[in-house]
Amino acid sequence: MIVPLAVMQKEARKKGYAVPHFLGANFEMTLAAIEAAKECGSPLALGFAPEVFAMIPLEYAVPMLREAADRATVPVSIQLEHGTGYEILARAISLGMQSVMFDGSHLPVEENIQKTKEIVKMAHAFGCDVEAELGYVGGSALCDIESEESRETDPDIVLEFIQQSQVDSLAISFGNVHGRYRGEAKLNYALVEKIAGMTEVPLTMHGGSGLTKEQYKKSIEAGISNIHFYTNITLGLWRSLEELAKKRNSQPVYHEICGATIAYFKKEILNIMEICKSAGKA
Ligand SMILES: [Zn+2]
Repeated sequence: MIVPLAVMQKEARKKGYAVPHFLGANFEMTLAAIEAAKECGSPLALGFAPEVFAMIPLEYAVPMLREAADRATVPVSIQLEHGTGYEILARAISLGMQSVMFDGSHLPVEENIQKTKEIVKMAHAFGCDVEAELGYVGGSALCDIESEESRETDPDIVLEFIQQSQVDSLAISFGNVHGRYRGEAKLNYALVEKIAGMTEVPLTMHGGSGLTKEQYKKSIEAGISNIHFYTNITLGLWRSLEELAKKRNSQPVYHEICGATIAYFKKEILNIMEICKSAGKA
């Protein structure tokens, strides 16, 4: 069944876990995540990131996600991630997306507030909830992109941002980085606690790949109720397919690759659901 992401996050915050968020870019990733959620009884969020999966048209991805979420026996949120403007978010909503993220983190704060506000007004008219980003989470899931340095979320503007924009959830920057962490990640839990103490609006952590179990635990305890994963659950896939080919002594055909990919993602996702403490909470 489909549930708005902000609603799911509020429940997670109350019960001390985080909603695990994965890319539901194609059918294999979507099916693996839903099967894992069913197996361990976890709520689940699936995102479509147009920047990362630029080869997959929104018009195919969103109806697929919507159908899969509607049919699932566990609660599933579907979200358009890092929408850059009004047009793409309106398109995603018209195709059936239930939650959207507007990423105005690169804009001056006043402009970020203004644009988020316009999008919230439009999205709420369709019963769709909106996440915005305040501060800037650097890095990228795209291997060949050099991004700007991260900027931590300024706690002094959080309340004004929320009140003016009426946003439903907030992605914050506290040392988290998209893609692979370079060196040891240093997370500012005190900042998360401070923001979580100021507002009921749920807080999201993008760039959740490659942290220690302790770092996830502390982030959740500090107030994070949604963690995004992609890079770390996909890095080992190529090696596991090579192993499969070696074992058989011949190249696998395509349907075997699909089957092995689903099985690989499912195993990785089950592990993350334990880490997020969401297993058994559906
Ligand atoms: Zn992100």
